[in-house]
Amino acid sequence: MANSPAPSADHLGQKLYEGKAKIIYATDNPEVLITYFKDDATAFNAQKRGQILNKGVINCKITAYLYALLEKQGIATHLLETTSEREQRIKRVQIVPLEVVVRNLAAGSLCKQTGIALGTKLEPSLVEFYYKNDDLGDPLLTRDRIFAMGLTSPERLTELTQKAEAINHILSQFFTRCGITLVDFKLEFGTDSAGTLLLADEISPDTCRLWDTSQPDERQRVMDKDRFRQDLGNVAAGYQAVLERIAAQLENPA
Ligand code: UDP
Repeated sequence: MANSPAPSADHLGQKLYEGKAKIIYATDNPEVLITYFKDDATAFNAQKRGQILNKGVINCKITAYLYALLEKQGIATHLLETTSEREQRIKRVQIVPLEVVVRNLAAGSLCKQTGIALGTKLEPSLVEFYYKNDDLGDPLLTRDRIFAMGLTSPERLTELTQKAEAINHILSQFFTRCGITLVDFKLEFGTDSAGTLLLADEISPDTCRLWDTSQPDERQRVMDKDRFRQDLGNVAAGYQAVLERIAAQLENPA
């Protein structure tokens, strides 16, 4: 299987980190990094691996659109500038080792672990914290476990929760206007050199569950990485459709 096209090495510094979907490079400014979006896809803690054609380009664009939307509404992010179709200049942050998951409708691990039926509306929405640790399989944490492990302070946890709720409010409304239901999503945050909490990583069909609101069929409505996880086919087409709806909505707000 072909790899993602090579990063344009001319302006890239040393490779600092290669994750499942992105590569991070240094730049000549210690406060600035470059993130490169790959086509590689993994699921089930990397037990399932594959490639989604052009995913890196699509996710880079979607993240750029959504982070600009969030910035406009007062959410500080790490994103400085999109510099090519797969690359963004980002502020260097120290990543908080928590995956913050927001759930509006029940899906995925919530259904598996609790028996709540797929698609059940969650009111209020859930904000959950998972430990960012592949060796441990990213376990679900409790507040007490987070403090026992020294992962963050009570004040920071409150700030993370409030930011996640604010982001959910903005994104849910926006996706509704796109005809898309924001089922759930994962966020990552980091602190910059001044200690300010910034939204980091990406928001894309890799990290969200997105259902075509007007499509009643359970398999056909899926526009996100569940198409890959569940072998539903037309994975790249799902991602592309999300991008097109976001772009259309931003160009022509209803
Ligand atoms: N998610 C993610 N990265 C992870 C785990 C989850 O982006 O390592 C996203 C996932 O795409 C979904 C939401 O977080 O939008 C909730 O995922 P869930 O806990 O249901 O886990 P899953 O069953 O999808 O692994």
